[in-house]
Amino acid sequence: MKSLSNVLNFATELVYPRHCAGCRRRGTWLCMACDADLPGFTPPLCAGCGVPAALRRCQCDSTPSDLSRVRSVGPYAGWLREAIIRFKYEGEWARAEHFGPLLAQVVLDLVPSHGLVPVPLHPRRYRQRGFNQSRLLAEHVGRLVDIDVRDLLVRQRMTDPQARLGAAARVVNVEDAFALRRDAAIAGQDFVLIDDVITTGSTLAACAKVLRDAGAREVSVATLAREIETASAL
Ligand SMILES: [Zn+2]
Ligand SMILES: [Zn+2]
Repeated sequence: MKSLSNVLNFATELVYPRHCAGCRRRGTWLCMACDADLPGFTPPLCAGCGVPAALRRCQCDSTPSDLSRVRSVGPYAGWLREAIIRFKYEGEWARAEHFGPLLAQVVLDLVPSHGLVPVPLHPRRYRQRGFNQSRLLAEHVGRLVDIDVRDLLVRQRMTDPQARLGAAARVVNVEDAFALRRDAAIAGQDFVLIDDVITTGSTLAACAKVLRDAGAREVSVATLAREIETASAL
């Protein structure tokens, strides 16, 4: 098996050569210099929004109340932002192997949990993109922390891309966009929603509301990055 996995790694490296997300140096997903340029979120963190106390930028006031706790690897800036864009829009799916352990650390702060829940894509968008980044992340993390990935949600209508909208319009845009998969029994259970970036949190809050309406207890969120208005002040 060992030799088979070596062959697979070699093949993956040929098809998806690793480049540092920060400086494009070959052979690594992230070099040490770029890693040092953008510190992730390290404790002590705000118990609610997960923003480090050192930043003094608690985001609890602007975090939707349906989200119990939020944890992110770091700010949506620098190499992390670049890495997410390459992962999502430029075919670097293999980057999930780098993201997995980073996001797993964050999820460990949110256990115990009865499942990792990916944010579903509408089937049409899935066909365009070819994969669901949220589910791919959840799969990698689930293996590392030994928690099941549970596809509890379906997207019942297409929505406009949130990035083009203001905060209030984002809430309206995702209203009733999600529904519970039929026959999912989740009363009294705790979940962690998985996504790449949290901005205003309206998409994740819409997902959380569906789970809560079906009786879920705690619905927390783990993302790679968190958009903070003051990220440039880091
Ligand atoms: Zn670099
Ligand atoms: Zn906070």
